[in-house]
Amino acid sequence: AAKTSGETCRWYATELDQQAGEEARLGAELRTALDSGQFRLVYQPIVELPHGRIKAVETLVRWDHPERGFISPVDFIPVAERNGLIMELGAWILREACHQASRWYAELGDVAPEHISVNASARQLAHRGFAALVASALEDSGLSATRLTIEVTETAVFEGGPAVDTLHRLHDLGVRIALDDFGTGHSSLGLLQTVPVDVLKVDKSFVDTITMAGRHAVIATALIQVADGLGLTAVAEGVETAEQAAELERLGYRLAQGYYFGIPEAQPDFRRNRESAVDP
Ligand code: C2E
Ligand code: CA
Ligand code: CA
Ligand code: CA
Repeated sequence: AAKTSGETCRWYATELDQQAGEEARLGAELRTALDSGQFRLVYQPIVELPHGRIKAVETLVRWDHPERGFISPVDFIPVAERNGLIMELGAWILREACHQASRWYAELGDVAPEHISVNASARQLAHRGFAALVASALEDSGLSATRLTIEVTETAVFEGGPAVDTLHRLHDLGVRIALDDFGTGHSSLGLLQTVPVDVLKVDKSFVDTITMAGRHAVIATALIQVADGLGLTAVAEGVETAEQAAELERLGYRLAQGYYFGIPEAQPDFRRNRESAVDP
C-alpha cells in the first residue's frame, strides 16, 4: 500500500514540487552529513608560471554521501546557502583549512605553500560575525592572517552591502581578499576601487578560449592589464593544457590554477617546491 501511495504522489507531483522535495531532502541530509563527518577538504595548487612551483592552494569541500556517493559542491553549496547551514558548514571548512595549513608550515617549512584560499559564500559575508569567526579560526590554529586568502564572488560583494564592511574587517586583520570567477558577475570594474581586493581570479571561461584563433585572448589580456595597473595579483583559473599555460605566460600571467598543474587533493605533493628551489 505504501508503494502505491508513493507512486500516486509521484504521479501528481509537478516538476517544481519534485525540485522542492529534492531540495528539502538534500537540506536535511546536509545536517546529518555535518553531524556525522561526511565532508572532507581537498586542496588545489595555484602555481607560479612557468616552472610550476606551488605558491598557494585553494580549499574545496567534498561530500561523500553514504548512499549517493560523491555530490558536487555546485549542487549542495547553493542548498546550504538557502537553508542557512552554510554558516555552520563554512565555519567548519574555515577552521579545518586553517589547521591543515598550520600543520603544513610546521611539518614542511619553506616547502609549504605561502597562502591558503578558502571560499566564502554571500550569506557568510553578509553576516556581521564573519570577520570575528575568521579571527578565531586563525588564533585557534596558530595560522598567520597573512597566510589566509578569502575568495569571494563579485555578486556577493555589491557596493553598499554588508559584505563590503566584512571585507574591510578581514583586510584589517591582514587577510587577503580574492575576487573569484572575475569577469562573470554583474558588477563593474569600479568595484575594484571601492572594496579591498588583493587577488583577481580570472574565470575559466576566459582561459578556455585563449588559444583559439581570432580575438579570444582579448579579455584575458585586458584583465592582466587591469590587475597589473592596480597592483593586484592575477590568477588564471581552469588551465587544462600546456598551450593555455604558455599563452598565459606570454600575456604576462605569473600565477595559474587548473587540472594541467594539479587536481584538488587531500595532500598535494609539495615536494616539487623543494626540487624547483634548486633549479637554476
Ligand atoms: P570555484 O571557487 O570557482 O572553484 C574552482 C572549481 O573549478 C572547483 O570545482 C575546481 O575543482 C574546478 N577546477 C579547477 N581546475 C579546473 C580545470 O582545469 N578544469 C575544470 N573543468 N574545472 C577545474 P569544485 O570543487 O567542483 O567547486 C565548484 C564550486 O563550488 C567552487 O567554484 C565554489 O564556488 C564552490 N565551492 C567549493 N568548495 C567550496 C567551499 O568550501 N565553500 C564555498 N562557499 N563554496 C565552495
Ligand atoms: Ca574559488
Ligand atoms: Ca573560481
Ligand atoms: Ca567557478
